[in-house]
Amino acid sequence: MASWERGLSEPARRTVTDPLGRDQDPFADFRRVMLLELEQRFRYRHSLGKTSRFFLALEEGVLLGSRCLACGGVWLPPRALCPDDLTITSWQELPGTGRLMSWTGCSRAPSYADTGGAPYLLAYVALEGASTLFLHRLRGVDEGELEPGMPVRVAFSRGPVGHPLERFWFEPA
Ligand SMILES: [Zn+2]
Repeated sequence: MASWERGLSEPARRTVTDPLGRDQDPFADFRRVMLLELEQRFRYRHSLGKTSRFFLALEEGVLLGSRCLACGGVWLPPRALCPDDLTITSWQELPGTGRLMSWTGCSRAPSYADTGGAPYLLAYVALEGASTLFLHRLRGVDEGELEPGMPVRVAFSRGPVGHPLERFWFEPA
């Protein structure tokens, strides 16, 4: 049974012209085309893998980094293996306080983020206890009020969110 016999629209047939408008169309024998109208849906099941515990902890209002027991580096975003020496890391809770190092105001926000029309602020923050800068959303402040080094902290959403990254953000401390 053809797809259009199962309720989809019957394929349309058209004769199209050479988009370059040439007198001698080299594809003249290929200009009769059939158009299929398909509705497609995709559902992805994506594992967050070894970083899953980081996102599970966010739901409890806890910020976790990963500590390398060999070199002492604390990685955030967490890594199961230390990128410097490939040692398996351990989870470590971080206080969630830090200092603003850099930022940018984005005129376009990710599709899951509601900014209420304000710029989507992305900030690099030096978090206490972490060896790396962490890039994430900064809320609750206008871009014009930002100063390098200003204290910020991690805040958590307790309600439903459309994306795991919306579970937390930075805000002025
Ligand atoms: Zn290491």
